[in-house]
Amino acid sequence: MHMNKITTVACPQCKKETIWNHSNCYRPFCSERCKMIDLGQWFSEDYCISHTDSNPEEDPAHQA
Ligand SMILES: [Zn+2]
Repeated sequence: MHMNKITTVACPQCKKETIWNHSNCYRPFCSERCKMIDLGQWFSEDYCISHTDSNPEEDPAHQA
């Protein structure tokens, strides 16, 4: 009998616990919405710029 181990991660966007497997094509995000929000922060300069500007620690790993 197989143990179906479920791996979960915290969504980087909303911190919601998210199942990480092949069926979640938005991983590590919980949903397409959170994924798009995250991408939007990169591609849209005017998205909450003042908010992100005040968070220098929120610097995601650049290309390692
Ligand atoms: Zn999320």
